[in-house]
Amino acid sequence: MTTLAIDIGGTKLAAALVEGDVMSMRRACPTPGSRTPGALEEALRALVLPLVKHAGRVAVASTGIIHNGVLTSINPANLGGLEHFPLVAFLEAATQLPVMAVNDAQAAAWAEFCALPERDDMVFLTVSTGVGGGVVLNGKLQTGSGGLAGHLGHTLADPAGPLCGCGRRGCVEAIASGRGIAAQAQGELAGLDAKAIFSRDTPQARGLVASSAHALARLIADVKAVTDCQVVVVGGSVGLAEGYLPLVKACLSQEPDVYQVPLRAAHYRHDAGLLGAALLATGDAL
Ligand SMILES: [Zn+2]
Repeated sequence: MTTLAIDIGGTKLAAALVEGDVMSMRRACPTPGSRTPGALEEALRALVLPLVKHAGRVAVASTGIIHNGVLTSINPANLGGLEHFPLVAFLEAATQLPVMAVNDAQAAAWAEFCALPERDDMVFLTVSTGVGGGVVLNGKLQTGSGGLAGHLGHTLADPAGPLCGCGRRGCVEAIASGRGIAAQAQGELAGLDAKAIFSRDTPQARGLVASSAHALARLIADVKAVTDCQVVVVGGSVGLAEGYLPLVKACLSQEPDVYQVPLRAAHYRHDAGLLGAALLATGDAL
């Protein structure tokens, strides 16, 4: 059966048909700027309706917490105005197809798990605009009873650190994410985005990238202690930026032996959320 997969992100919406692990008819559009439920509904209809007639079911990967088919935002800055959006009910009515939905990092974690040569216990971390994660243990994606499992970006990196969009101070996301790197920039780097900061070879730029890598390495030691995972897969635009993963590896190597775990770059650069949601809809992973 062909799955219509949808990815709802803070900056773009994407959709594609997925059969097995083959994707076709991929479409994308910007996430509506007004960020009201009505604007999102209109954008989703325009994006997915041309694909509906080819599909037998819908699978959604979305930013935020997905619980009982409802989307809520842990960091309202990512999807302001969309708290308690009834994602599954809306898409079932719009497409007349069965719909399942899961957090986007959890979906990507499942796609990355399926791409591993050995399906060991794994943790996926994506370092991008925010920091997201997903945990797969004993072949099962951990979503938690309320959908919160794996939101590793909101664990504590520094109790005196910057305020995070979730309301907590010093989350990993506030320090290590692209938005966090940009927010901490001062002087000649003020106002630049993370990509531009990565391209500058100045002491401040190197320091910001290093503190991001340090925060991520400490998080990886923590998740090793919590899950005893056998591999950590790192993705996202910051996570896959040139030279970033070696920095994280160097920081992790400073930790005691018991916290060491192999790090791998993500197999899927883009669309892991679309593919992971489709793979979850076809299997019994949840
Ligand atoms: Zn947070």
